[in-house]
Amino acid sequence: MSRFWSPLVHQLTPYVPGEQPKIPNLIKLNTNENPYGPSPKVFEAIRQAADDTLRLYPDPQAHDLKQALANYINLPTDHIFVGNGSDEVLAIAFQALLKQQKPLLFPDISYSFYPVYCQMYQVEFEKIPLDEQFNIRLSDYQRPNGGIIFPNPNAPTGIALPLSEIRQLLDNNPDSVVLVDEAYVDFGTESAVTLVKDYPNVLVTQTFSKSWALAGLRVGFAVGQPALIEALTRVKDSFNSYPLDRLALAGAIAAVKDQDYFKATCNKIIASRENLTQQLTELGFDVLPSSANFIFARHSKYEGAWLAQQLREKALLVRHFSQPRITEFLRITLGTETQNKLLIQTLKSIIN
Ligand code: PMP
Repeated sequence: MSRFWSPLVHQLTPYVPGEQPKIPNLIKLNTNENPYGPSPKVFEAIRQAADDTLRLYPDPQAHDLKQALANYINLPTDHIFVGNGSDEVLAIAFQALLKQQKPLLFPDISYSFYPVYCQMYQVEFEKIPLDEQFNIRLSDYQRPNGGIIFPNPNAPTGIALPLSEIRQLLDNNPDSVVLVDEAYVDFGTESAVTLVKDYPNVLVTQTFSKSWALAGLRVGFAVGQPALIEALTRVKDSFNSYPLDRLALAGAIAAVKDQDYFKATCNKIIASRENLTQQLTELGFDVLPSSANFIFARHSKYEGAWLAQQLREKALLVRHFSQPRITEFLRITLGTETQNKLLIQTLKSIIN
């Protein structure tokens, strides 16, 4: 604390990201990173971009990346906004679209950055409890609101909301922006990007951090009709003209263009999810049905915090949230087959 701080800074409770510890031989299953790494074509593109042109500013419009994404999602470039990770895209959307007279709605159990943005940008919000099975119940969102945001699949539960229900939510809330945070969509949920041409009130965000294995590059994007995208661009251009550097642009473009690598690695992760779910169930875990690259599970006998600590002592990191309703759970990122096997072996040794 310092007397030099602004009043706002005194009030902030910042988001705490998952640890990035420097423990040798650590198996890191705590921050939903992709265990397979990016396409080799990404390295090649970044190497090529690392030349004398680094003395020049990057393209403030990120035109080439938007063009590559436009081809990927089949919509024109004026439907796309890009930023420094989807966290930045979300932060901009909170300021540009979700700060309204009426409160923003989001699930009580969801991405814990949302209340942090609300505090930062002074957005009023209401947390809407998930039902007993940790599902979003549409009827609970039938109340006055200035916007709705939720991850799909939800985090940290991994549970997906079907596209038909998202359509219903958009129909029920024609005067609010509904932001679908699709950080984990490529691991087995239908994307709401297909709804963009029919709905002026949907904004979809995605990231290169998970399915594209580029968390270290910091690239995210939003898809919506041009009026929504223009609001985001107005805020961005009042804040930082160049959120994406030349290397990030080159790497992200190369990633989008290597669809074969992308699909193959996503499929490997999806296959390992079914495997790990079954093995955890056999060990006495109750596993929520995941459509993401992580599993949310609780053991019938052992506390989540205790299990996480035991695993940590054996250099295996998973995420535990000391938070009402989910304190019994572990969130386990899917690793390689070898890492997942080691996780199961280690859990067996702890439990027995
Ligand atoms: N949304 C959700 C639901 C997330 O879990 C994350 C990752 N922490 C993000 C957005 C942000 O990811 P990034 O900034 O790396 O794109």
